[in-house]
Amino acid sequence: MSVMYERVALIGLGLIASSMFWAMKRAGVAGEVTGYARSEATRDTARRIGLCDRVCDTVAEAVEGADLVVLCVPVGVMGAVAAEMAAHLAPGATVTDVGSVKRRVIDAVGPHLPNGVHFVPGHPMAGTEHSGPESGFAELFDNRWTLLVPIEGGDPEAVSRLRAYWEALGANVEEMEPEHHDLVCAVTSHAPHLIAYTMVGVADDLRRVTDSEVIKFSAAGFRDFTRIAASDPTMWRDVFLTNKDATLEVLGRFTEELFALQRAIRTGDGDHLYDYFTRTRAIRRGIIEAGQDTDAPDFGRGAKR
Ligand code: NAP
Repeated sequence: MSVMYERVALIGLGLIASSMFWAMKRAGVAGEVTGYARSEATRDTARRIGLCDRVCDTVAEAVEGADLVVLCVPVGVMGAVAAEMAAHLAPGATVTDVGSVKRRVIDAVGPHLPNGVHFVPGHPMAGTEHSGPESGFAELFDNRWTLLVPIEGGDPEAVSRLRAYWEALGANVEEMEPEHHDLVCAVTSHAPHLIAYTMVGVADDLRRVTDSEVIKFSAAGFRDFTRIAASDPTMWRDVFLTNKDATLEVLGRFTEELFALQRAIRTGDGDHLYDYFTRTRAIRRGIIEAGQDTDAPDFGRGAKR
């Protein structure tokens, strides 16, 4: 594959940035890749494992001369990082991000970017519960969706180039409005994470009552929750603080449904429970048919990651 961007700067060197680096190397779509992370420890790790062609000690140095800059930091600090790098961006560069929330990132980053720099917000809908520079792998985006959220009046050429870049990294790409993106993600990712965090918290409280039996006899349902609830606390705190309205809307509906199911259990309404579970089972089948998960009985837990 031919080079699509001569110099790509990865700002933040965690799970997503490191996966992008290895996927870029696999695809051969980037000339030089520079990287910057806030802490010296992360920059040292990156140098040790060969993450990025050049690891820089300042964000200014990392973005200098880059024709693609990717913000891979938690959503809550995107604006501050954009402000810090703005004066050093090359004219004509494309700035994108990988944040899990789009409206707040657009509002926080957009105003800092100088004229002549193209801003194309994005979100690869792929992740694991691991974080940090050593957690990435080239296959993370394969056959997963990356959503691009072009801003009004943006440059269509910059959007189509970024689309081709993500496709080269293995992703399927779709464009979406920011508000719609935030609602879709509240349903498919943000609310489920909050529910998992809650369930594991409840079990932890119970553990004190049942003397560790919750952990010892932990069965599939609970174990799957614990995997999700092991996700990075900083990232997820920022997601809920910045996608407040959509998450609260989904959680409101969730609570209503939970009460209805609770009532069905209390009143012995087996038909309600059976019909509900039949409907949800069909959704699972749809996800497998769309190629977004495996129907292996262990949820792919035997897989390498
Ligand atoms: P991560 O593994 O925790 O890495 C975050 C990186 O950001 C680290 O290199 C960290 O540097 C750096 N950073 C944190 N605060 C900073 C600051 N104030 N200034 C400069 N750098 C800072 O995170 P990730 O999972 O890759 O997530 C990155 C972004 O991708 C987030 O916006 C998240 O919403 C989005 N995303 C995540 C997933 C997922 O499942 N993980 C999926 C899709 C999108 P240090 O190591 O030096 O602290």
